[in-house]
Amino acid sequence: MMSYEDPPQSKLFYMGINIDKRIRKNHPLRKIEELIDFDFIYNEVRDKYGYNGNESIPPPVILKLMLLLVLYNVRSERELMDTLSERLDWLWFLGFDLDTEIPNHSVLSKARRRWGEEAFRSFYERVVWQCVESGLVDGRKIFVDSSLIQADASNNSVVDRQSLKRYLSESYKELEKRLEEEREDEEGDNDDEGGGVNSRYISTTDPDAAIVRTSGKAKLRYETHRAVDSAYEVITAAEVTPGDVNEAHMMVGLIDSHQQNTETSVETVVADSKYGTISNYLSCFDRGIKAHVPDLKDVQSKSGLRGKIFSDYMFNYDSETDTYTCPRGKKLRRKSLHINRESVDYAALRSDCRVCELMPRCTKNKAGRTIKRHLRQEELDYMRALAGTAVSKNDIKTRQHLMERSFARAKRYGDDRARWRGLWRVRIQEYLIASIQNIQILLKYGTDPRIALAVKRVREEFNGKLKSLFKSSNQYLLGFFQLPKSGFERDLLVRTI
Ligand code: SF4
Repeated sequence: MMSYEDPPQSKLFYMGINIDKRIRKNHPLRKIEELIDFDFIYNEVRDKYGYNGNESIPPPVILKLMLLLVLYNVRSERELMDTLSERLDWLWFLGFDLDTEIPNHSVLSKARRRWGEEAFRSFYERVVWQCVESGLVDGRKIFVDSSLIQADASNNSVVDRQSLKRYLSESYKELEKRLEEEREDEEGDNDDEGGGVNSRYISTTDPDAAIVRTSGKAKLRYETHRAVDSAYEVITAAEVTPGDVNEAHMMVGLIDSHQQNTETSVETVVADSKYGTISNYLSCFDRGIKAHVPDLKDVQSKSGLRGKIFSDYMFNYDSETDTYTCPRGKKLRRKSLHINRESVDYAALRSDCRVCELMPRCTKNKAGRTIKRHLRQEELDYMRALAGTAVSKNDIKTRQHLMERSFARAKRYGDDRARWRGLWRVRIQEYLIASIQNIQILLKYGTDPRIALAVKRVREEFNGKLKSLFKSSNQYLLGFFQLPKSGFERDLLVRTI
């Protein structure tokens, strides 16, 4: 006999409900709760609270709410709070009961302002350290790259600082007032990263964002910079800057942060040609780090107009005579020393170049060709040669997939667009996203160092076996195609195979 569903009736009392029993054993939040210590935040933000007045929401609950917001990529804090009472797993994770009062969404923005970015940086660094303790970080080889993220501000908010019209805009007046207050707050702090970003244009809604043109479209953007460890792709250093910052300037800082966060020493850094600057090569040389980074100058010399004239590499240096020899066999002699640039200019004779048939492909300068030689040119040449080895090229190929994977995963948690306005808030977002990505690695490979080590060994063994399998199957195929024509021999070989 068919039964009929009773009309829904709200009960006043539910006896014997245990949320813990309703959450499956392998729920990711259950694992995160077991794995991550959220209570550290009590000590971290203790001095940010007063001793009197209303009691706040416990800091670990706020941190967990922030984590949920990013982990489930919830659009807004208001939506998170609206959804909270419908999600048993979230309630359980926060230690709430069915009838616990849901906090107002504004507690999150207030906590961010009260705690600042440092609390979130500490959380991120603790997760990195947990990965280190679990044997998931090798530390010797890191991959470095950056990615642009769209700011939470419209292009319509951009004003021209040099235009008189800006004084008519109410929002610009408001912005100037705010910037002035910030400058006063930061007095003596020597932090030059806040405030406006472009010298001429500025967004009135997010003055920290920079106008960056990519694929023909100019937008307000920030830039995330990351160092990823080679072993399990743990993000060991993360930084955010306005979108117009040259990523090459961030490499040394990322190496330092990696070493500090993991207490290891970098032996090899891998990055694309944007990082292949003189300054980066020499910094790596001084630190004894191999830079598997293509030479920026070399890449530029092959592209555009520069590709049409002879590159510096076509001129041979003779240390005995301290001269260069050009493709026409003429000498370029020392002309001037530039202390600031740390380089010496070598110049060909005007009379040699004027009559040279190669001049259109050599220089546009009517006075003749000049070559710049860095005062540490031998060290630079050594680093450039290192970047051209087979091992380095292999690493550079690996970098592309590895870093794309890291940024693509970040997008799942909303890393393509800034949730909040202001550089320090976008940094908070990046620390949360990088922490979540690292937590996912911890969940996947476990926290026990023995497990991590075992996983690594199995991987290596599997890779080894795979290689030998390929080797033998190659031999097998080779044998098959070289089968003798005679019927008897052929039959014997086929049977043996
Ligand atoms: S233009 Fe001058 S430097 Fe260049 S190849 Fe001719 S002689 Fe040499």
